[in-house]
Amino acid sequence: MKVKLHAGVSTFVPKPQTPFQWVSVDTRESIIAKQDLLKRELKDRNIKLSWTEPNDTLLEAWLSRGDRRLAEVIYTAWKSGAKFDAWGDQMKYDVWMAAFEEHGLDPSFYTHRQRRTDEIFPWDHISAAVRKNFLFQDFRQSLEGKIRVDCRLNCFACGILPTFSNLRRENPGEVWKCPEVKSPARNNQASVISNQLPVVGD
Ligand code: SF4
Repeated sequence: MKVKLHAGVSTFVPKPQTPFQWVSVDTRESIIAKQDLLKRELKDRNIKLSWTEPNDTLLEAWLSRGDRRLAEVIYTAWKSGAKFDAWGDQMKYDVWMAAFEEHGLDPSFYTHRQRRTDEIFPWDHISAAVRKNFLFQDFRQSLEGKIRVDCRLNCFACGILPTFSNLRRENPGEVWKCPEVKSPARNNQASVISNQLPVVGD
């Protein structure tokens, strides 16, 4: 039996409120080099390879990692005809570049820059319930090639419990998976880490 495989490869965009929010996005050159490698190495005609265009990835990264100044860029690009950029034939990369330039912004500021750990992110005022310090622990562990054990086996006090404690008490049950709402375990990993992130960067 012949098997046909369709492999869709997306370029990683480190998103806010995740352990990789400090990480830079690949440059266009790096994305193209990696995609070319896959195209060269996956030549089996039973394997169909598809990938995300670098321009699409960069636009996704600017929009998801940007700050409030991006609002003007989006509005200007929209006025200039950028409306259905997710459709390949409607992607108006030059329009976006012109909009960035018009507002004096360098798009690479939002993408190709490893963020220092003391940087205040544009999204820091939005709570996703998980503590920034917890995300940073995950980030550091990833650099060491480590992962956490399933937190249902060992709660790391990520921040969800205090945020949703009232909701949790009102809706008890197994569905939550997290431990019962009590004080966080004293001997877990999170309890020994300071509230301040160590400054890493430059
Ligand atoms: S068990 Fe719940 S509170 Fe504990 S680390 Fe996991 S998601 Fe967070």
